Amino acid sequence: MEDKIKFIKTFNPVMGCDIGCSYCYARKINQRFKHIPDFSIPTFMEYRLPQLYKDKPRLMLITSMSDFSSWCKNSWCDKIFKALKDNPQHQYIVLTKRPEQCQFSTDLDNVWMGVTVTSKNEVQRIYDMKKNIKAKHYHITFEPLFEDVGELNLTNIDWIVIGAETGNRRGKIKPKKEWIQNIVNQARDKNIPVCMKMSLFDIVGEEFKQDMPKEFLEIIDN
Ligand code: SF4
Repeated sequence: MEDKIKFIKTFNPVMGCDIGCSYCYARKINQRFKHIPDFSIPTFMEYRLPQLYKDKPRLMLITSMSDFSSWCKNSWCDKIFKALKDNPQHQYIVLTKRPEQCQFSTDLDNVWMGVTVTSKNEVQRIYDMKKNIKAKHYHITFEPLFEDVGELNLTNIDWIVIGAETGNRRGKIKPKKEWIQNIVNQARDKNIPVCMKMSLFDIVGEEFKQDMPKEFLEIIDN
């Protein structure tokens, strides 16, 4: 089976994040490759923007080394969104863990604003995203999934990603099948595509799925 996640490329116009999650792989990558001297200071990599104008259509995660909440407080956010607007051939996936700190609006059709939810006490982020960030598309990433997240309000959510923690962190949590099934059942009721990361393959068995919005499939299938 082909892993559809591999079609999501990373493009990082910002490096660095001050949230400090214990499981942060971006910080480790920065420690290794020394992209920026201090990972806790979000840094605008303006020189990367021209790459968007050269690339063929791609599906891009543009916050794999940062959090959107630090972008929207900075003047450089306008420059980034101008580049996104200039390049409608791509689909852009954006994530934040602090939607309560965001005040942002975009009418771009190819921007997918999302929140990360790892546990029940973070479900509020879904509400905060829809309240504070106005966008054409919303998504939720349940990764790493640490517990059953309970009942969700999935109104206006267009895509859901679920994954387990990777790496060898001490105390690493393996999601239970019923936690995953709970999210899948609620998504099914609203016809929301659900994409599982390969980290769930052994947990869910035959119920493994990697559904994508049609806008993403148009890029993947070409
Ligand atoms: S929000 Fe993302 S980039 Fe920031 S510390 Fe957490 S995992 Fe790392």
